[in-house]
Amino acid sequence: MSAIHYSNDIEIYGEYDVAVLGGGPSGVCAAVSAARNGLRVLLIEASPSLGGMATIGQVGPFMTCYDRDGNKKIVGGLFDEIIDRLKKHSAVISPDEMEASTVYTSFIKKYHRHVTPFDSFYLEIVLDEMVRESGAELLCYTQFCDCVTEGGKIKHIILNAPEGLICVKASLFIDCTGIAAVAAKAGVPTYKGDEARGIPQPGTLMFEVVGVDDRGYEALGARPERPVKAYKTPSGRYKVNHYHVYNVDAANAKSLTDAHSKARYQVLDAYDVLRKKTQGFENCEISNVATALGVRESRHIEGEYKITVEDVSKGTKFDDRIAVYGFGMDVHNRSEAESGNFKIEIAEKYYIPYRSLLPKNCNNLLVAGKALSCESQAVGGMRCMPAAMAMGQAAGIACALAINNCVTLRGIDVSALQAKLRAAGAIID
Ligand SMILES: Cc1cc2nc3c(=O)[nH]c(=O)nc-3n(C[C@H](O)[C@H](O)[C@H](O)COP(=O)(O)OP(=O)(O)OC[C@H]3O[C@@H](n4cnc5c(N)ncnc54)[C@H](O)[C@@H]3O)c2cc1C
Repeated sequence: MSAIHYSNDIEIYGEYDVAVLGGGPSGVCAAVSAARNGLRVLLIEASPSLGGMATIGQVGPFMTCYDRDGNKKIVGGLFDEIIDRLKKHSAVISPDEMEASTVYTSFIKKYHRHVTPFDSFYLEIVLDEMVRESGAELLCYTQFCDCVTEGGKIKHIILNAPEGLICVKASLFIDCTGIAAVAAKAGVPTYKGDEARGIPQPGTLMFEVVGVDDRGYEALGARPERPVKAYKTPSGRYKVNHYHVYNVDAANAKSLTDAHSKARYQVLDAYDVLRKKTQGFENCEISNVATALGVRESRHIEGEYKITVEDVSKGTKFDDRIAVYGFGMDVHNRSEAESGNFKIEIAEKYYIPYRSLLPKNCNNLLVAGKALSCESQAVGGMRCMPAAMAMGQAAGIACALAINNCVTLRGIDVSALQAKLRAAGAIID
């Protein structure tokens, strides 16, 4: 690849305790929890709105917040607060009321007890409200593009804002981009997709339809096969999650652009199948299509601990656990030729250790959300939104402990982190 050397002065936009990159489920919770714990926080999001895959990707429902069999609630904290705030807009159905095998789970039974259907637009409002009320500053329409490192630390980050390149200085950084964009630029070892071949799980362009005859769809649910998977939302729309686009590199513009082009035709195809072959959807209309391609997997960081498939299937209870989750290893086939998903039974619940958010080779960075340090197959469950929120909340508090006690992120007292998480309503046992 040929290259040029570019050099210019870049305006320093501001100086913060923590800069959080990426405003998806993990990033919003990281920013809110850091700000509520007294830090000066800047949250940076590339797209116009907060929510990540939940809003720009139109993904939903929030996957289960209960254990494997749906008996005990195991995600709380900011996740609960988001649900409570959505309730005020009648834009959510409480997970306690949700059973598996209904129109809200596309009739899927396994691991689908107590999912949380929500309406994406109201989620944008709620997340924006939470960030602003917390005192964190917010920059949307602003993309992280590079960083300046010194002595194993990130000193400055370079952002592409509508006004041009700007620079931000912070003591600590939380990478919630889902593609480990910051970690990769900071020299953290990363890998994309599965370890053996580098192939990620496929992407999907989500869309919503209105005008569904619920009774028709309900009758269809009794049959074993449905032509298209659709999940009802509180407003009565259905989120459609159907075709796959394979081998998309979400950290590469050309790959994303080409995949998105293909996915638009898949939406038309799925719409056709819905109207012609899916009982209850004969008169449905597309109401909106996601603005961003749904990306299930991109980069993973190499962290101080890499969660394994065995940890998820045995439920290894780490001393430094900061979150618990109970959704199955939902790993979609990585090519058209492969059939079926990777299936290994999980423990009743499994744990996420703080060390899996701590990247190698960088001393002032945490990585929360789906890019955490985890075997590719094992991330299949904990990539879901409730788990991403729980990780973000923990990362924000970890930063507060580091700054307030003048220690590094590696040096924080993890039992103090766990105590603060419990006090904030999070569940870690
Ligand atoms: C098709 C599909 C269906 C799914 N279904 C479900 C489901 O039903 N239930 C469930 O719970 N989970 C589901 N998931 C998984 C879930 O949506 C994601 O794994 C989850 O959103 C991860 O949260 P995150 O915060 O790690 O990342 P994301 O949600 O991906 O958020 C990352 C954010 O970072 C921003 N960003 C990226 N790069 C930059 C940059 N350089 N600078 C600034 N900002 C940047 C992005 O714009 C985005 O807002 C699904 C995912 C897909 C793709």
